[in-house]
Amino acid sequence: MKQVHNFNAGPCVLPDQAIENSIEALKDFMGTGMSVIEVSHRSKEWSAVMDECRALWKELLHIPDTHEVLFLGGGASMQFLYVAMNFLENKAGYLETGVWAKKALKEAKGLGNAYAVASSADRTYCYIPKGYEIPEDLDYFHITTNNTIYGTEIRHDMDCPVPLIADMSSDIMSRPVDVSKYALIYGGAQKNVGPAGVAFAIVRKDALGKVSRYIPTMLDYRTHVDGGSMFNTPPVFPIFVMKETLKWLKGIGGVEAIHKINEHKASLLYQEIDRNSLFRGTAEKEDRSIMNVCFVMAPGYEELQDRFLDYAKGRGMVGIKGHRSVGGFRASIYNACPEESVKALIACMQDFEKENL
Ligand SMILES: *Cc1c(COP(=O)(O)O)cnc(C)c1O
Repeated sequence: MKQVHNFNAGPCVLPDQAIENSIEALKDFMGTGMSVIEVSHRSKEWSAVMDECRALWKELLHIPDTHEVLFLGGGASMQFLYVAMNFLENKAGYLETGVWAKKALKEAKGLGNAYAVASSADRTYCYIPKGYEIPEDLDYFHITTNNTIYGTEIRHDMDCPVPLIADMSSDIMSRPVDVSKYALIYGGAQKNVGPAGVAFAIVRKDALGKVSRYIPTMLDYRTHVDGGSMFNTPPVFPIFVMKETLKWLKGIGGVEAIHKINEHKASLLYQEIDRNSLFRGTAEKEDRSIMNVCFVMAPGYEELQDRFLDYAKGRGMVGIKGHRSVGGFRASIYNACPEESVKALIACMQDFEKENL
C-alpha cells in the first residue's frame, strides 16, 4: 500500500511489486548469495535478466523482427545526440511541441541541417500542430509523442513519407503502438518503464548505416545492436527494475489492458477539471495527454494557487506542482499510478471547491 498519492513527473511512481522484487534481488540475486549489483554482467544469471527484459519489450509492444530493442546509458537527452549522429545526413525535420522537442532539435542543429517543420510555441505548446506538410527530402522526421511539461500528446501512429523517429519517454507502454511505422522509438525509462539510469531505443536495423560521418563507437546504435546492449557494462540495476516493471505490466494484461485503464483515469480527472469552477485545463481538448494532466486556477481564482497546493499536500498528494516553466498544476498519472490516487485528487479538488467557492 502506498503511503502517499504520487503524481511526480519523473522519476515517479513505480509498481510496488517491482520495487519489492528489486529489493529482494539487491539482497540475494537468484540464490547466488550475491546482490544483483555484485554479480558479473557476463554471468549466466545476468544474461537471463537481459534476455527476459528484451523478450518482455518485444512481447508487450509486439516489436517486429525488423527492429531491435536496446538499453543504453545517458537518458533520453543522450538519445537526442544519438538520433542526429545515426540518421542526419542532409536535412532533418522536427515537430516542435515543447522544451524536450527543442532540446532534441538543438543536438541535430549542432551536427548539420535541421529545422522545425511546425511549432506550437506561439501558444506555449498547448496544442499539437496540424495541417503541416512533411517534406519528402528529409532524412527523418522527429516527433515527441507526449509533451510531459504541457500535457499534450500525439496518440496515434502517424503516416510519414520519411523515416519517423519518436521520443516516447513519457508515454511508452501506455498505449499500443505500431512499431513498424517508426525507424526509431526512444526514451528515458523513468516515466513509465523503470527508474532513472537507463534509456531504451527500439531501432529498425535496416535504417542504420546510412550516414557518411564517423560515429563514435558508443554513439553508434550498431555497436549496441551487435553487442546485445552489453558492449560495455550496462546499467544493471535500472535494467533489473525495468524488467520487474514490465513483468508487472504483463501480469495485469499488458499494454492493451493498461491503455484502457489509462484512458479511464485520465477521463475521470479531465471531467473534474472541466466541471470544477475553480480549475481550468491548459491543453487543447483534442490533444490532451492521458499521462500528464495540466491545469491552472480558473480566471479570477489565481490567488488560490498556493493555498490549493498546501491543501493537496495535506491530503497526501505529492508532485502536483506544474513544471517551473509553465506554473499551475500537473498530475502525472503514469501506468503505475493507481486509480485510487486519481480519485483522491478528484475528491480533494471537490472539497477545495466547496470550501472556497
Ligand atoms: C523526461 C523527458 C526527457 C528527458 O529525459 P532524461 O532521461 O532526463 O534525459 C526527454 N523527453 C521527454 C518527452 C521527457 O519527458
